[in-house]
Amino acid sequence: MTERDLFRQEVREWLEAHCPVSQRQPIIREEQIWAGSRVAFSSEEAKAWFEAMRDRGWTAPTWPTEYGGGGLDTEQARVLEQEMIRLGCRPPLYDMGLWMLGPALLNFGSEAQKTTHIPRIVRGETRWAQGYSEPGAGSDLASLTTRAVDDGDHFIVSGTKIWTTRADVADWIFCLVRTDPDAPKRKGISFLLIDMHSAGITTRPIALISGESEFCQTFFDEVRVPKNNLVGALNQGWEVAKELLKHERKLMATMETITEKIDVGLVELAKSRLPMTDAGHLANTDLRTRMAEHLMQADALNDLNELIYGGMKTGQFDPAIPLTLKYIGTREQQRKDELMLEILGVDGLSMTSGKPDLDRMVRNWAYNKAHTIAGGTSEIQLNIIARRGLGLPE
Ligand SMILES: Cc1cc2nc3c(=O)[nH]c(=O)nc-3n(C[C@H](O)[C@H](O)[C@H](O)COP(=O)(O)OP(=O)(O)OC[C@H]3O[C@@H](n4cnc5c(N)ncnc54)[C@H](O)[C@@H]3O)c2cc1C
Repeated sequence: MTERDLFRQEVREWLEAHCPVSQRQPIIREEQIWAGSRVAFSSEEAKAWFEAMRDRGWTAPTWPTEYGGGGLDTEQARVLEQEMIRLGCRPPLYDMGLWMLGPALLNFGSEAQKTTHIPRIVRGETRWAQGYSEPGAGSDLASLTTRAVDDGDHFIVSGTKIWTTRADVADWIFCLVRTDPDAPKRKGISFLLIDMHSAGITTRPIALISGESEFCQTFFDEVRVPKNNLVGALNQGWEVAKELLKHERKLMATMETITEKIDVGLVELAKSRLPMTDAGHLANTDLRTRMAEHLMQADALNDLNELIYGGMKTGQFDPAIPLTLKYIGTREQQRKDELMLEILGVDGLSMTSGKPDLDRMVRNWAYNKAHTIAGGTSEIQLNIIARRGLGLPE
């Protein structure tokens, strides 16, 4: 047995022993475990599963053990991921700190920032929000105007952030702020960690058409932030922001981390609901063609992921390739959602029918629309691919 096989066996046995059967079901939104001081568990078994993964550091499998992470190399982490998928294990923890801030902090953070924040992220003790977008700075993020003024050992932060997902329940927020209004726009930005309990911060939820209010507008009114909370160098926050966005886009490309898992596949769904020919094919040839196109694209996307993973191992890596992942991944997810909705027919008209499987599919269809916007819109992704990937002029 190779070392990798031995590791796989160990992981398999450990997961079998520690992942309760109830935690091997597709996750629904109400049962996702979001980090933070208000963490809530839907059952004792959900709590036990989270705690087992947390104590092993496998909420953040590749992060260093000295900060509470799992210390796995990329190959081991891949084995863990594969074994969790094989068993249907639910993700143990949801948090922007885990997905985005942590990797950036490991790269750019001071030792004190790492020892303070990383273990708390791994253990799910703090919930993080992302303070990038502003009413006048979305795609053109570098135009942001929230300012941080030097005041001795503090900055005084004033301005407003928008689309801050769940800032109303977050413990901390990582923010891009302008520290030099006279410098060229990307040069005068800094990256700050701000405690959401600081005086002068208010959040106003934004009501959505679904009746939920996942987003907030967050206001900063002369908020005092210790200078120790500056990540990276002063006025160099754009570098940190770019690193973090890479992780956000990777997340958006894989998508299923944040959306609800659906048990039934596209083909199975079509077979169970639509007329078939005697030869066992879908009678609707137009739909069949579009499904085949999507399935081929989805396969190609998997191959692309393997290629990137292989390239990471050998160091032979075309940095242009990952640029395409978010664009293709989110597009195919939406294509799949549209196909599912088409197959559902009139059953796709409601997300509150009381039939959980159907409602989940329709909810995902609506929710996943956001994926071609969040973390950089598809148009912006195409601009980036054109410029950085293909070397085309502005
Ligand atoms: C689900 C979701 C969660 C989010 N969570 C957060 C969060 O937690 N924190 C946060 O800071 N932000 C968050 N955002 C905001 C997100 O980052 C922005 O919506 C996104 O960057 C786009 O900015 P905008 O909405 O201002 O659109 P705009 O920038 O105003 O764009 C409007 C349209 O113009 C197009 N466009 C703009 N510029 C160009 C160009 N140069 N070339 C071609 N087309 C262009 C865009 O593609 C888009 O179609 C979230 C968004 C969503 C949907």
